[in-house]
Amino acid sequence: MTGASRGIGQDIAVACAEAGANVFLTYHNTPADQTVQLAHAHGTAVHAVKADVSKSEEADAAVKQCVEKFGGVDILVNNAGITKDGLLMRMKDADWDAVMDTNLKGAFNMIRAVSRPMMKKRAGRIVNIGSVVGSSGNPGQANYAASKAGLIGLTMAVARELASRDILVNVVSPGYIVTDMTDVLGEEVKKSILAGIPLGRFGSARDISNAVLFLASDAGGYITGQVLHVNGGLYM
Ligand code: NDP
Repeated sequence: MTGASRGIGQDIAVACAEAGANVFLTYHNTPADQTVQLAHAHGTAVHAVKADVSKSEEADAAVKQCVEKFGGVDILVNNAGITKDGLLMRMKDADWDAVMDTNLKGAFNMIRAVSRPMMKKRAGRIVNIGSVVGSSGNPGQANYAASKAGLIGLTMAVARELASRDILVNVVSPGYIVTDMTDVLGEEVKKSILAGIPLGRFGSARDISNAVLFLASDAGGYITGQVLHVNGGLYM
């Protein structure tokens, strides 16, 4: 599970522990002590390592440590993600590259790293956290929308490649979820987004964790290459 120091990633890690899973989590700059503490309270093994998913050697090292610690990887959740918003004409190369490197290449790095141990076990679940804007687009987010749309293509290609080994690969695509990432939006922007959500509220991190748990569970055993939208009806 990547990017588990806060927000949606923290909640997915805790929800997995609640469901009885041992959790191997990665953090980037923010230490994951709080997540470790919250997850640990559920009595399963929890281990955290620092890893920048955009760097393939760090992704490889994290997966290697997970295999050494827990004997394999049953479920990978690619949650780490960033935004660097700006209108197309003013978007800097560095902002494009940073978002693609973390959101898309980061997921690729992690999937490639877990593919060998999962293939060996002939079982695995991979859940990539996308975004509604990867399906709908959004002005000011050319980089972010492209990275999340790319994640859907990556998911479908890998789902086809790994299906014969019973490795299922899907996207959970959140709408607007209350976290640090959306906290930075102004009140007016939030109001106009809310007006477009049929359920009339922003989602919670737990709404996303529930979808991840479903896809990772036995109940999700015949689902692969799909995008599960969790957005209160914002995009349908
Ligand atoms: P936050 O900004 O709250 O948390 C992002 C997490 O990703 C942090 O733990 C962060 O670590 C980590 N991270 C960032 N860069 C890297 C990196 N290079 N390597 C490893 N970890 C990294 O975001 P959210 O919880 O809101 O979002 C989680 C996911 O959900 C993202 O993929 C996002 O795109 C997606 N999403 C969120 C939505 C929302 O409304 N909140 C809507 C749609 C999608 P650190 O703390 O060190 O920076």
